[in-house]
Formats: sequence, C-alpha cells, structure tokens
Amino acid sequence: MKHYNYIFAGSGLSALMTVYKIVQSGKFSDKSILLLDENSKKSNDRTWCFWSEKNENWEPIINKKWNSALFANQDFKIDINLNPYKYNQIRGLDFYNFVFDVISKQENITFVNQKVIDYEESENQAQTYEGIDGIKTIMNDMIEEGAPISAFGIPQEMPDLLQHF
Ligand SMILES: Cc1cc2nc3c(=O)[nH]c(=O)nc-3n(C[C@H](O)[C@H](O)[C@H](O)COP(=O)(O)OP(=O)(O)OC[C@H]3O[C@@H](n4cnc5c(N)ncnc54)[C@H](O)[C@@H]3O)c2cc1C
Repeated sequence: MKHYNYIFAGSGLSALMTVYKIVQSGKFSDKSILLLDENSKKSNDRTWCFWSEKNENWEPIINKKWNSALFANQDFKIDINLNPYKYNQIRGLDFYNFVFDVISKQENITFVNQKVIDYEESENQAQTYEGIDGIKTIMNDMIEEGAPISAFGIPQEMPDLLQHF
C-alpha cells in the first residue's frame, strides 16, 4: 500500500493549477503528491479564455490576445477598446504541457494515468481505489493536512484565474 499526503482525483484545470501553485510556493517539498487522471492530458481538449489587466504568469502560453472588441449588427457597428483589460486565450494542451513540465521535475509529485473508480473517507484519511492494475489502495491524509489557501501563495481575496463567459 502506498501513502501520499495529497491525492488529486482528476488532473484537470483545478488540480493542475493547485499543484502548480504548490510547487511555486516551495512550502510542500516535504509532502508527497499523487495526481490521478483517466486521461493522459496529451490532447487539446479545450481552450480557455479569460480577462486580465496586467501581464501574468500565463504569458508564455497565451495563444491569442485581444485588445479590442467589435459590437455590431446589420445597422450598427462599434469598436470597443478594452484597455486596461485584455481578453486572453490559452489552449488546454499548452497549459497541461506547461504544468507537467514543472511537475516532472519534482520528485515528490507523481502522475498516474488511471481512472479513480471509488473512494472512501474516514476521520483523517481517504482511500482512493484505482481500477485497472497496480496499487489497489492508496491512503491519503489530505483532510488531516488541511492547508489554508494562503499557503499556496494565492491572495485570500483573489482567485488566480477568473472564469468568464
Ligand atoms: C470546450 C470547453 C471550453 C471551455 N472554455 C472555458 C473558457 O473559455 N473559460 C473558462 O474559464 N472556462 C472554460 N471552460 C470551463 C473549464 O474548462 C472548467 O470550468 C474547468 O476545466 C473545470 O476544472 P476542473 O479541474 O474542475 O475540471 P476539468 O478541467 O474538466 O478536469 C477534470 C479531470 O478529471 C478527470 N477525471 C474525471 N473523472 C475521473 C476519474 N473517475 N478518474 C480519473 N480522472 C477523472 C478528467 O479526465 C479531467 O482531466 C470550458 C470547458 C469546456 C469543456
């Protein structure tokens, strides 16, 4: 049986963003982290668009950036300068590659391409069952660890990436 301090069931945007921030914080290097996903995260399954006011962490992987918007119909047309905001697009695959590149250099972080088929919680630990082969049970004490959001270097009052539609 293998034991990890933190297990992420699914390695999508929220898990990868959290683990990226964990690495950047430098405060979790003594904690073991397991990322599980049924998908290998090697395909461009989506794009993300979001607003920003200043240059930010994700600059190297921003695929497109808009400084103006067009609002129009058959009789009316106006160009809107978005300043001071920009509307940005990131390709999912670029984000996955960017974060996995960082993760692969961390000895305390493991990614396993397997489906989570069930989990059980108890007072201070959870068991995650993998369905395909290999380890049957993984113990997880993430509930006991319970780190505050500030430990990830994220300002309490502001999320790192706002969602907009
Ligand atoms: C086509 C598309 C376009 C989008 N565009 C935008 C946008 O422009 N701007 C924006 O802010 N948001 C956008 N979103 C929404 C955004 O993608 C989601 O809000 C965000 O990905 C949610 O993050 P998440 O980590 O919860 O889920 P996900 O990113 O979906 O990650 C969940 C992960 O869990 C894995 N998983 C699921 N079940 C299991 C299992 N049993 N075992 C192992 N792994 C499992 C999946 O394979 C996946 O990798 C878009 C979504 C889609 C689908």
